Amino acid sequence: MTDKKKLHVAAFSGGKDSTAMVLAMAVNNYPLDVLLITPTGDELPGMVAHWELISGLVGLPLTVPDGPTLRDVIDSQSALPNFRMRFCTRMIKIVPAIAWVTRKTVEGSAVVMHVGLRADEAERKGIIDAKIETRFPLRELGMGLPEVQAFLRDRRISIPARTDCARCYHQRIGEWWDLWRNHPEIWADAESDEKRIGNTYRSPGRDTWPVPLEGLRRSFESGRVPRGARLNLELFDGADDQAICRVCSMCPRAPPTRVRRPPLEAPRSPLSRFPNPADRRGRQC
Ligand code: SF4
Repeated sequence: MTDKKKLHVAAFSGGKDSTAMVLAMAVNNYPLDVLLITPTGDELPGMVAHWELISGLVGLPLTVPDGPTLRDVIDSQSALPNFRMRFCTRMIKIVPAIAWVTRKTVEGSAVVMHVGLRADEAERKGIIDAKIETRFPLRELGMGLPEVQAFLRDRRISIPARTDCARCYHQRIGEWWDLWRNHPEIWADAESDEKRIGNTYRSPGRDTWPVPLEGLRRSFESGRVPRGARLNLELFDGADDQAICRVCSMCPRAPPTRVRRPPLEAPRSPLSRFPNPADRRGRQC
């Protein structure tokens, strides 16, 4: 038995499952002390706005463990992440999250991790130490994919079309096109990464388009539009099913309608170190 104070932590990626989990916890009066996110600094503005919206709705500030940005790990590894070298997830998300939980435990808290695995997903193990108590609110509430979608729809909560890094190597050609068309400043920065590091974010053989971003841009500029490109991103809000960084929810895998309103004074956001990408050239990854 322990007399440690329990610290209830939600692993909040901002995808549909962890978003539904956090809101369902509020609706169902689950204890919740911490909204833990692990930003990479390369999220699109809509993702940051979504984190802040949910933070306001549940009345908890966002907690960001000390850790590097995507730019930091690219520089420290002198490499761009790709399918064979996926160091980014481990260095930006997993290691800082485990260090944060470990520190809270050493400081005397009994951390209870709340992870957004759904009722219809196969059992998976968490990445946090097995000694850390872990709960799965969506499973406890019997929420599979249809229930999660209905829960968010009923509350008019939409999930950003992209929850992964803007320049994630894993994205499909249509998503690169979206980035080129809608975020030219990020595109230009990613292109300069490739020249500086001497590598590419793209994966040869994954599609028939030019591999380096410079060549890809020239193809887009010539008028070629890949199948699957989203000509109107707003129409596709909520399409995060292909998000790859589900480790953001600390574990690579509802109910009544009352949602608490935002507090009168919005919590101070720790995301101030992640301003609009357009304003952070030079430090953004
Ligand atoms: S979204 Fe992609 S680039 Fe970003 S941390 Fe995850 S795997 Fe790495």
